[in-house]
Amino acid sequence: MERGIANILHRDTIAVIVGSQTFERGEKVFAQKRVASVEATRGELRGRVIAAERDRKPYVVRLWMREEGLAYECTCPVGLTRQFCKHTVAIALAHLENERQEAERGLAVLREAMFTVKPEALIERLLVLARRAPEWADELKRVCLDALSTQ
Ligand SMILES: [Zn+2]
Repeated sequence: MERGIANILHRDTIAVIVGSQTFERGEKVFAQKRVASVEATRGELRGRVIAAERDRKPYVVRLWMREEGLAYECTCPVGLTRQFCKHTVAIALAHLENERQEAERGLAVLREAMFTVKPEALIERLLVLARRAPEWADELKRVCLDALSTQ
C-alpha cells in the first residue's frame, strides 16, 4: 500500500489545516457512517460521501499531496469553491481508521507468530533493537524491574 499520504495525514494536522469548525463537521460526517468508500493509491485518497440530503448524489472527494502541501477537491458546494470541506475531512478520518484497524490486525497476527519463536531468539532480537534505540533499552529495563519487584 502507498504510505505517502498516510505519513502526513494525522488527526491533529488535519484539524490545524481545516480549522476546528470544519474538522468537527467532518468528524460528524464520519461518525454518521456517511463515508461510502475510501481508497488510498499513490499518495492520494479518493472517496465517496453520502449526502445528507436524500435527493443528492454522493459527493466525490479527492485528497492528494503537492509540494506545497495538501490539495483537495469535492463535488459539494463548498468543495467547488476550492475550500477544505467536511467531506474531505471525513474521508481522511475514514482512511486513518482503516489504517489503524489494519495495523491492529497485523499486530494480532504477529502476536500469534511470536509464540512460535524460542524465548532465547526473541531476547537476542530485543537486544539488537535496544542497541539501536535507547527507548527500547529503557522499556526493556522497566519490564525487567517490574518482573523483579513482583517476584
Ligand atoms: Zn465536500
